[in-house]
Amino acid sequence: MSSEDWVGCDMAGYEQQWEDYRRRKNRLLLGLFGYIPITFAFGLLATELFRVQWPIPVFAVSWMLLFATAGIRLQSYPCPRCGQLFFGYNLFTRRCVHCTLPKYQMGPD
Ligand SMILES: [Zn+2]
Repeated sequence: MSSEDWVGCDMAGYEQQWEDYRRRKNRLLLGLFGYIPITFAFGLLATELFRVQWPIPVFAVSWMLLFATAGIRLQSYPCPRCGQLFFGYNLFTRRCVHCTLPKYQMGPD
């Protein structure tokens, strides 16, 4: 069995799924903590360099839409084991609300 076979095998683990989870979570965190500093920096650039202010609310609203999308994407993360919504309505749960798979568990037991 080559290593390539192992990757395609069901028992290969949930590494890629957790990687996907981390990506979704990091996007949400960037959306949350980046909003004020990045919008502020954008506003400063627009005002100082280009002497315009109209793009600032457009940028802010677009950011909020992307933030909302990131939240929906994280909330709709499918459990690597059972395929149902891992978080249900609780983004802070440490286990799948359906099959109790612990967060970051690497394989199906
Ligand atoms: Zn599950």
